[in-house]
Formats: sequence, C-alpha cells, structure tokens
Amino acid sequence: MYSNSLIDFTVIKKTKHKYLQHKHKFSLRKSPAYEAWRKKVLARDRYICQNCGRVNVRFQVHHIRGFTKYPHLRLDVNNGITYCNKCHRRFHNKYGKQNFPDSRTVEF
Ligand SMILES: [Zn+2]
Ligand SMILES: [Zn+2]
Repeated sequence: MYSNSLIDFTVIKKTKHKYLQHKHKFSLRKSPAYEAWRKKVLARDRYICQNCGRVNVRFQVHHIRGFTKYPHLRLDVNNGITYCNKCHRRFHNKYGKQNFPDSRTVEF
C-alpha cells in the first residue's frame, strides 16, 4: 500500500523537524557559553535595567541585534544588554520579535 508508506514518511519527517528545533533552542539557552555570556552582560551593566534603571528585579539579557538574524552575534557581549522583565516584554510587544530596531535608540 503506497499510501501508508507515504503517511509514515510524513510523520517521521515532521517529528524529526520538531525534535531538531527543540534541541536547537534548548541546547543554546542551557549551554555554559550562553550562561557565561549572560553573566558577563549583567555584570557589565551592574545588574541595572538599561531602560528604566530598576535594580533587584528579574532581568533578561536582550540581543540588540536579533538572535535569529545575526547568529554569529549571539554570544557577543557587545550585542547583549540588560533589561528588567517588564521593559524587555514591552520592547518586544512594541517592536516585534524579529527585525526590531536597536533598543538603545528607541522609546519603550
Ligand atoms: Zn526596566
Ligand atoms: Zn529581547
């Protein structure tokens, strides 16, 4: 039955694709290199939100040049900036997750 093998093939392909996406996302976020990058940026910014100046809050290290578009800058300290969770969320809500402007030059 050719239809069965066709279905099987599609399922395998989809599963593999999902698995790879998953693996990719999580391996970078959890990698020691990524953690080190995050800590370096936080230390340079003295654990202060670079937008609102808040301290003692939860921080996100934002990629000034998008993570997806500039993979080679993912672990570049000069491409990271410290924002509190609120400012970080507000920035991405306003400017999107891709093709956003340089966060240092816009209001959010
Ligand atoms: Zn903030
Ligand atoms: Zn961000």
